[in-house]
Amino acid sequence: MEKNEFKIGNTLIELVLGDITEMDTDAIVNAANSSLLGGGGVDGAIHRKGGLKIFEECKKIRATKYPSGLPTGEAVITSAGNLKSQFVIHTVGPVWQGGIHDESKLLEKAYDSSLRLALSKGLSSISFPSISTGAYNYPIKQASFVALNAIIKFADKQQKIAKIVMVLFSKKTFDIYLTTAKSLFK
Ligand code: ADP
Repeated sequence: MEKNEFKIGNTLIELVLGDITEMDTDAIVNAANSSLLGGGGVDGAIHRKGGLKIFEECKKIRATKYPSGLPTGEAVITSAGNLKSQFVIHTVGPVWQGGIHDESKLLEKAYDSSLRLALSKGLSSISFPSISTGAYNYPIKQASFVALNAIIKFADKQQKIAKIVMVLFSKKTFDIYLTTAKSLFK
């Protein structure tokens, strides 16, 4: 598994080339859609491997807290069913619409909401996919700056989450994130 590590204070930030459904961090993040009822890409992979328990909990969240869907940038937590992690944090990234519809702010918020939720649950490690860069079409290089800056900003402020991992699914995406990380972690 290809892997690079960076440090912000006591927080380890890792870039990994791999499949997020294989990660054993306390939580993995799902790039969900607002329905919370499943989709393609990483969402489909998490529900397929994690099993019905995650889906049932998502349905309950829809029925109780978010009857009209989870707004973009917000995050909720469920257990992780059959996955190696303990929890799945479901967040909704923005759909790319040319960059003039607050996409970067909303993408930053998706990372930040997920990290805050993990912190509030006392978790010490979390893995993210590259939110919004699949079906939602966010340009990868721009997304990599938003994602890593959000993570750095959060890591700067806290000491509790010891490890934050970006799990990149293709070599191309991994290389783009790595180039961005090398420019940001100096
Ligand atoms: P979005 O709708 O937010 O764009 P997608 O799931 O379509 O979400 O894509 C987000 C990113 O997740 C893409 O870079 C995609 O290649 C990647 N991805 C898909 N499956 C996995 C997986 N199993 N593990 C990690 N990343 C994945």
